[in-house]
Amino acid sequence: MEDNTLIGDRFGRRFPYLRLSVTDVCNFSCSYCLPDGYQKAHGDEFMSVLEIRRLVTAFAELGTWKIRLTGGEPTVRPDFIKLAQTVSSIPGIRRMAFTTNGYKLPERAQSYFDSGLRAINVSIDSLDPRKFHEITGHDRLGEVVEGVNAALNVGFENVKINTVLLKGVNDDELDGFLAFVENRPVSLRFIELMQTGDNLTYFRQHHVPSTVIRNKFAERGWVLQERADGAGPAVEYAHPSYAGRIGLIAPYAKDFCSTCNRLRVSARGSLHLCLFGNGGHDLRPLLQDDVQIDELKDKVLSLMQFKRSSHFLHSGDAGVRQHLASIGG
Ligand code: SF4
Repeated sequence: MEDNTLIGDRFGRRFPYLRLSVTDVCNFSCSYCLPDGYQKAHGDEFMSVLEIRRLVTAFAELGTWKIRLTGGEPTVRPDFIKLAQTVSSIPGIRRMAFTTNGYKLPERAQSYFDSGLRAINVSIDSLDPRKFHEITGHDRLGEVVEGVNAALNVGFENVKINTVLLKGVNDDELDGFLAFVENRPVSLRFIELMQTGDNLTYFRQHHVPSTVIRNKFAERGWVLQERADGAGPAVEYAHPSYAGRIGLIAPYAKDFCSTCNRLRVSARGSLHLCLFGNGGHDLRPLLQDDVQIDELKDKVLSLMQFKRSSHFLHSGDAGVRQHLASIGG
C-alpha cells in the first residue's frame, strides 16, 4: 500500500511510524541496557499529556498513522492510561502499540486494551527463571509470561516478544523459545545486541551475528514471510506446525536501514532522526500552544534533510546513544 505520509527523506523513504518515548524511567535493570538501574537524569520533566497530544496531532496531520509508546518502561508513568487514551483518539492514528517489560501485565492487560492500545511488545530475554532474574534484576518470569497470555486473552491484535540474543547467556535456548510459540499466536523476535556508548565490553562479550540464528531457522524449516505495511525492522518466519512466528531484528545486516520507516521523539520532546544518530532536535518550545502546530509541522519536515542514509555501527559509531532506555530502542 502506497504510504501518503508527507514525512520523507532524500533517500526516498517515508516515515508513517513514530516511536514516542514517554519516560526514561525503568523499573528493571537489564544487563545490556541499564545494568545499574535507572539513574535519575537532571533537567526538564517529561512531556505532559497535553504536550504529547500537540506533538502527535502534528505528526498525524503530516500522515503518521502508527504510534509506539516506549520508555524506559512506559507503564511506570502514573498517567499512562490517560496518555494512551489521548493519543489513540487523535484523528489519523490507526495503529497504537507499546513496548513493555511486562511488569504487572496480568492485572493491567485489560486496561491497556481499553485505552486503545492494540499491539504489545513484551521483553523476555530468557525462559529460564534464574537467567531471567540475572538479566533483568527481577524474579518475574512467571508474571511476564502470564501477562503475555492475558494480552492474548483480552484481544490484543498483535502480541510480540522481544528477546535480545546474548552469547553465553540465552543463545542455547532456541528450542525453548520455539516451543513458546508452538501453541501461542505470538511473534517472538530475536534482537541482535547493538553497541551503544555504555556497553562496548558487554557487546564484545555477548554479540551473536544474526547470520548464526538465521541459519538455524532455515535448518528447522522456518520460511521467510512478506513484510507488513508499517511494520518495524523485523524479518519474520513462519512454520506450518507452529501457531506463532519467529523473527529477527538484525541492525548489522546488509541494507537494514534501506527500509527505515520510523522516527523517534524522546520523553523530553527531542526528535531523533535515527536510533544511532548524533543527538536530537528540540521540539518542545513548539508544544506550548495549539496555535504553534503549523510551525511545528514545518520544523519536522525541514529537519528531515538531516536524516542520514543509515547508522554507522559497522565503523563503531553508535552516535550519542549511551543506552537504549533513553529513547526506547
Ligand atoms: S539505525 Fe537509524 S537509519 Fe537505520 S533503521 Fe534504525 S533509525 Fe533507521
